[in-house]
Amino acid sequence: MSSTLELAKTLLSLPSITPDDKGCQTLLAARLAALDFKITHYPSGNVSNLWAKRGNQSPTLCFAGHTDVVPVGDEKAWLSPPFSPTIRDGKLYARGAADMKSSIAAMVTACERFIQQHPHFKGSLAFLITSDEEGPALDGTQAALKALKQIEQIPEWCLVGEASSKDKLGDTIKVGRRGSLTGHFKIFGKQGHVAYPDLAKNPIHLSLRSLAAIAEIEWDDKDTIFPATSLQFANLHSGFGANNVIPAMIEGNFNLRFSPKTTPEMIKQKIEGILMAHGLTYELQWVLSGKPFYTQDDSKLIQVITNTIEKNMGYKPIHSTAGGTSDGRFFAEYDTEVVELGPNNASIHQVNEWIDLKELEDLSNLYEAILTDLFI
Ligand SMILES: [Zn+2]
Repeated sequence: MSSTLELAKTLLSLPSITPDDKGCQTLLAARLAALDFKITHYPSGNVSNLWAKRGNQSPTLCFAGHTDVVPVGDEKAWLSPPFSPTIRDGKLYARGAADMKSSIAAMVTACERFIQQHPHFKGSLAFLITSDEEGPALDGTQAALKALKQIEQIPEWCLVGEASSKDKLGDTIKVGRRGSLTGHFKIFGKQGHVAYPDLAKNPIHLSLRSLAAIAEIEWDDKDTIFPATSLQFANLHSGFGANNVIPAMIEGNFNLRFSPKTTPEMIKQKIEGILMAHGLTYELQWVLSGKPFYTQDDSKLIQVITNTIEKNMGYKPIHSTAGGTSDGRFFAEYDTEVVELGPNNASIHQVNEWIDLKELEDLSNLYEAILTDLFI
């Protein structure tokens, strides 16, 4: 068994559902300490965060990852137990196999081989590993970066190991993400009997036009880097189940994935403007969970990773900003150049999550080649 596969299997056998790290980080710390990484733990709340750094020369490449996994879901639908990593037909099955314990294992063994060959390379390597990427992500990478900022250890480059590939390893790298903004709203009326509407105020009737107007807003156009901003209603609720009561309130929420062309302030103004123009009595709470970010094409990190993939895999990666948020957004706030490169994302968060065994070895070799091309 290769040492990447062995380490992946060890990590995958620990049931580290967010935010419980279940010892994954202690195990990684020991492995990295043996390579002269300096280990610091930054626990926050019930979240474990591991910072491991080797060297004091800039630039620093930080591998960002998470040891937590999402819950297993329908356990009966798994063909093998989710925390007993199992090989079938050339694939390794377990919760976290693609998202993202395999990438962590691949980078650890890549560093082992790279450091053995180039112990005195110019630059530094780091790992920032959290157990709260799949959860609220408040006590994870964000908290650790605050602590690192205070000791002036913010890395210049960040490679996020999230599963970015679509059909072939490295066919897609993520170079940015849209922002994410949620609006939680309540629109008020007056409860009453459906037979006496003049004594009540129906919040459903009152709000329909304004909600439709909000859904129909065209925010901006897509460009070569970002898809267009989109708003989706995710929840809408009113009424008590009875057919003879006009409810007092309608409530719900919508989420926007927005490109840098549209700011949170523009979004808030426009939506509040619509609600006010319709004369509604409402409450609206905004939660901004990520600003958009983008690492420019002329960044050395992007150029090296793009060229290394082309050289080693025989094809050029697509530079994408699609998909959900990742912890890359927290690094971007400190002007770190961020790229995401990891395995096939077809099975993430699903039952019977897997990574292809050859892809696992290829990923580790690709990470090693990137280290060589960046530092040597
Ligand atoms: Zn992930």
